[in-house]
Amino acid sequence: MIKLYYDMHIHSCLSPCGDEDMTPNNIANMAAILGQDIIALTDHNTAKNCPAVAKVAESLGLLFVPGMELCTSEEAHIVCLFPDVESALAFSDEVEKNTIKFKNDPEKLGHQIIMDENDEPIGELEHSLLISSMISLDEAPGLARSFGGVAFPAHIDRHSFSVIASLGAFPEDSGYTACEITSMGDVRGFSERYPCIAQMPKLLSSDAHYLDKMNEQYAYVELPERSVECLISALRGEVDAVWNRGVK
Ligand SMILES: [Zn+2]
Ligand SMILES: [Zn+2]
Repeated sequence: MIKLYYDMHIHSCLSPCGDEDMTPNNIANMAAILGQDIIALTDHNTAKNCPAVAKVAESLGLLFVPGMELCTSEEAHIVCLFPDVESALAFSDEVEKNTIKFKNDPEKLGHQIIMDENDEPIGELEHSLLISSMISLDEAPGLARSFGGVAFPAHIDRHSFSVIASLGAFPEDSGYTACEITSMGDVRGFSERYPCIAQMPKLLSSDAHYLDKMNEQYAYVELPERSVECLISALRGEVDAVWNRGVK
């Protein structure tokens, strides 16, 4: 087994709430300085900064997982991860098609900047990324899977935009095979309260919107192989992996 430190929930300057310092180079270099082996980019409802972050992260030797944080029709946040940038971008287009277009107000809500691998702005998304999609919690796992990916509920221990805040319970019958608890969250307490998550991988990621909020070496996974495909299989429960051994 290969031990890999990870932070699989990070926002870039494309998320309106993401700091403008969250550029591709800053994110990837900070992750490398912090000693991460795996990072995922998960902007709200878009994967359009994944190509740039992938290039920088891979040049630094990091394993990069392209993704997004999908907002479902129930206003629950779901992390979706994909095996390659092309699949993530195709999924991103599908989400865009299934979201009502509402113009972003950059002054009030923040800019939504697409960058290249040199941190040069190459565009700004005009429709707001903070609008819920029309994709439901029940649909998200199958939809992500149809693009080769995996979907799992984000920050289930938060009081807003989590499945538990929206439903009052973990969506046991929706086909989720993993979940995320905030870094330093009460993993044991949540496993006792929601027994259906006890055997699932429970990711502890930062949900960083600022560089200084990215995870230090803390959460890790032990995988049989260092690859994004293997990681996604592990999150689907198809490959044995060890998550955050010893974390309470
Ligand atoms: Zn969220
Ligand atoms: Zn987030």
